[in-house]
Amino acid sequence: MDGNTPVTELKGVGAKTCELFGKLDIHTVGDLLAACPRDYEVFQEPVRIREAACGEVCSVHAAVSGVAGERRIRKLYILSVNIADDSGGMQLTFYNMPFLKKTLRPGGFYIFRGLVRAKGASKIIEQPKIFSREDYKQLTDRLVPRYALTKGLTSQAIQKYVRQALSFYEFEPEYYEDFVLEENHLVSRREAVEAIHFPKDRESLVKARQRLVFDEFFSFLFQMRSGQRLQKELPNSHKMFETADTVRFLEKLPFPLTKAQQKVWEEIRADLGGQSSMNRLIQGDVGSGKTIVAVLALLMAAANGYQGALMAPTEVLAMQHFETIQNYVKEYGLIFRPVLLVGSMTAKEKRAAYESIREGEVNLVIGTHALIQEKVRYRSLGLVVTDEQHRFGVRQRELLAGKGENPHILVMSATPIPRTLAIILYGDLQFSVIDELPVGRLPIKNCVVNTAYRPKAYQFIAGQVAQGRQVYVICPQVEGDGDDSEGGLPLENVVDYTEKLKNALPASVQVAYLHGKMRPGDKNRIMDQFAAHSIDVLVSTTVIEVGINVPNATVMMVENAERFGLAQLHQLRGRVGRGEHQSYCIFISSDEKAQSMERLQILNKSNDGFYIASEDLKLRGPGEMLGIRQSGEFSFRMGDIYADANVLKQASEAVERLLSTDPDLEKPEHARLKCWLKASADVDFRSI
Ligand code: ADP
Ligand code: MG
Repeated sequence: MDGNTPVTELKGVGAKTCELFGKLDIHTVGDLLAACPRDYEVFQEPVRIREAACGEVCSVHAAVSGVAGERRIRKLYILSVNIADDSGGMQLTFYNMPFLKKTLRPGGFYIFRGLVRAKGASKIIEQPKIFSREDYKQLTDRLVPRYALTKGLTSQAIQKYVRQALSFYEFEPEYYEDFVLEENHLVSRREAVEAIHFPKDRESLVKARQRLVFDEFFSFLFQMRSGQRLQKELPNSHKMFETADTVRFLEKLPFPLTKAQQKVWEEIRADLGGQSSMNRLIQGDVGSGKTIVAVLALLMAAANGYQGALMAPTEVLAMQHFETIQNYVKEYGLIFRPVLLVGSMTAKEKRAAYESIREGEVNLVIGTHALIQEKVRYRSLGLVVTDEQHRFGVRQRELLAGKGENPHILVMSATPIPRTLAIILYGDLQFSVIDELPVGRLPIKNCVVNTAYRPKAYQFIAGQVAQGRQVYVICPQVEGDGDDSEGGLPLENVVDYTEKLKNALPASVQVAYLHGKMRPGDKNRIMDQFAAHSIDVLVSTTVIEVGINVPNATVMMVENAERFGLAQLHQLRGRVGRGEHQSYCIFISSDEKAQSMERLQILNKSNDGFYIASEDLKLRGPGEMLGIRQSGEFSFRMGDIYADANVLKQASEAVERLLSTDPDLEKPEHARLKCWLKASADVDFRSI
């Protein structure tokens, strides 16, 4: 059994389970083992009811103290029961679980576990889990993994299959040389995979994670750096000179460029007309105005008779760029003849686009990674711009560059990273930083609140809509079956939440939803409608996190904010405050633990992306890093450039050493490494 064995080879996995796994994007045993737990639950000794703290997940050992009461509200069946121990009593409620009535007889003694909430003067747990004393004992003081789930598949079931897979799995022999393992204190890959699913303790978990993250960074950096050797010092074969087009465009723009934008534009102009090919990164916080700088560069390319390409990580963003540029063409008479190229276009539309690109009828191609498909042939590609670059692997960037003869390359990123890390991650690029926001932007007003604030928030939203503004609401899940309530914290989902909002807001407010699982055509339609303001409130997953620009939107409300990394929340916040109106961010936390609130308060205090990411780290340990994606842009599965900065440095040094002694991996001691790197590069490529 190896990574490519289909999950159906596992005992007990039939068509049904296979389909459920499919929903989680698990098709092979390799996928299953790579599906790391989101986090780990610790089952402490039960506490007495009086000591059970509101806002925390607790276990209590108590007796059912009365007859269970039943109620029905439309389709919902509600079972309520009181429990008590020698310190006091509390209430439990269960939804749609009529069969529990038999279990919950008066006098029955169980351990109940779930999120404790205050209810008036007393306490309540909704949907607690029920354990016998013996079952509970088995779980105590272990780290019990919780996976990303889908309805019908529990963490327990996944664990069972993982255990089975591990017992048959043939791990590849160790690919690093001994000194690499020793110097970086790495455990074996087998040990790491086993411990990530079945950690003995916190320490083994940290070690496991470290190895997996090292592997991930190593493979990424190796691909990047080995490609780089081919790229260095390329002569500028597309010399470009400034023309009246860019000057006129700047004069007509309704706003002047900020100083920072001007500086970066100057750097780019110098590159385009310089001795060697441009290879530049523009880093600028959300809303700093990177797009306009890219448009200027593309305009200069077009004016010099070259084609430009602008690649965005999502169709939604590509479409938005396309529309922005079409508007510029109309309003300012720019010389762009743009064409859109995205995966959801029909075969016929694509053929027409390919043809116009090949024949040089268009001088600007905007799209997703459809731009790098084999069928696309450019006539005179002079400049390639990638937006939100780290959503793309290095390979994608290279493939696009490979479409022309050493075109100039410009990448844009909103991920704030310190210089030392930037040199590792983008060692091959020159830097430009836009470190200033356009003038006249009002600082966003933030609040971090619990779910009790919702009615007020809805009122506020209705008020903003009445004033003609628009609103985003973010939920972590797509549909109700996305995640079960393991651990007592049901997550909000886009589909149900939209219904809830429609009921809570006046009927005149247009509410719609958007998520990644929708068909691309539908996504684009919704996004268009939101941009055109025929939708007032857009309920969405984080698909809108990168790049979307609707300056009329003034409220960003995030449900289950505790579930997101702060840097990601900061990116989401960047969707508002992009116009002249005062904007607001409402972070709703369902986890009232002081610690999560404190973490979210960081967002309240600062609007500086880098400060936010580094503060977040100080509050959390590596065990808590699993499952929370810190950066919205980097495509690492597990590694986090902030939290794992040390591992990143170690991996970087190991890659450097390897490249300086055996760049083509020809030595026999590197044969296994070569093989593994090749396999992991293919995975990387597939995963976008
Ligand atoms: P990001 O850097 O996040 O990609 P955008 O390029 O989308 O930001 O710009 C955000 C908004 O700011 C856009 O509506 C854009 O037109 C506007 N903008 C850009 N530069 C300026 C400027 N110098 N003055 C005023 N508004 C600007
Ligand atoms: Mg942008």
